[in-house]
Amino acid sequence: MTATVIQADAVIVGAGPVGLFQAFQLGLQDIRCHLIDALPHVGGQCIELYADKPIYDIPAIPLCTGRELVAQLQTQVQPFAPTLHLNQEVTEVERLEDASISVTTSTGQHFVCKVLVIAAGVGAFQARKLAVEGARALEGTHVHYRLGDASRFAGQDVLVLGGEESAVAAALKLTLEAHGPRSVTLMHRRDVFTADPVLLQAMRDAVANGTLQLQIGQPTGLFATEGQLHALQIAIPDGNTLERPAQQLIACLGLSPKLGPISQWGLVMERKQLVVNTETFATDVPSIFAVGDINTYPGKKKLILCGFHEATLAAFGAAAIVHPTRKTLLQYTTTSSELHRLLGIA
Ligand code: FAD
Repeated sequence: MTATVIQADAVIVGAGPVGLFQAFQLGLQDIRCHLIDALPHVGGQCIELYADKPIYDIPAIPLCTGRELVAQLQTQVQPFAPTLHLNQEVTEVERLEDASISVTTSTGQHFVCKVLVIAAGVGAFQARKLAVEGARALEGTHVHYRLGDASRFAGQDVLVLGGEESAVAAALKLTLEAHGPRSVTLMHRRDVFTADPVLLQAMRDAVANGTLQLQIGQPTGLFATEGQLHALQIAIPDGNTLERPAQQLIACLGLSPKLGPISQWGLVMERKQLVVNTETFATDVPSIFAVGDINTYPGKKKLILCGFHEATLAAFGAAAIVHPTRKTLLQYTTTSSELHRLLGIA
């Protein structure tokens, strides 16, 4: 079934910190938008790469973590309620004859918008896949790259693969499920895990009390019958192999950003980044803007602060297209009754 076409003033590709702030700045220009991200959550690199690490160079916020910054950006954009479309990658972008922009995502969702802002950072984050024969055929049924809804593993033997925080957290979450798996095993190639100390302590406690099993080794084979996984072959550090029962495998092998289809959208690029002018951060294609880490111009610095500035000027550029008969005057949020109206402040 074909999804209905969503007609929109603005669509933003990427819900990282810059995409979120872009939605806020568009809101101040009286432009509502749809935000699309390949990840199942907003926040881009701040959440994927350094959620609990400190940031010291956001103006007027001496210290916050990646997660805290994203939470604040979400609160700030609330008055403009951007519609979120997560878990889908923007695959096609095309300028139509009437100057609108057609945008299609990997789930088949189709948008037609007056302006498109590309805030795609370093690309869409994708899970590193398990390089074991047969894994692809079992993906989604027995091999997973995210924990998702933990209750779906009830009564089964689950093996979580990985040595980083996402693996440790997923394994622990499974052990805490009320109607959880029959067994939970955390497997990594060596007995060294990288995670928050509190999580690591919880992991060692779970191993000590028997709710979590630890397996040191690497998967070398999958045993499946008629599409049903039942065991893994594992190479262990002493050079031997063993077989371990498992009906479900969750591989938390990290995420890597992939520029993906952006290079096929017919926009001028330089070293995998979109070339923009610094007046409105428009690309060479009218009505398409690019802000944040994805763009390039003389003096470009890949910093959140710079992305915020770019998003502000791009919003003025977008306003000239979406509201062509209105004057885009500079107004202060402190004093403008029009901006207070837009922000929902009495
Ligand atoms: P991103 O954060 O990369 O977000 C882009 C989003 O677009 C992603 O969520 C991605 O999934 C999505 N996306 C991409 N392509 C598509 C597509 N085709 N369809 C759908 N979605 C798509 N900067 C600072 O200013 N201060 C710091 O202290 C700082 N510390 C950092 C520490 C680390 C470890 C790293 C890696 C970076 C740090 N940075 C810091 C840089 C900062 O994180 C980036 O400048 C910022 O994240 C850029 O924001 P963005 O919104 O442009 O892109």
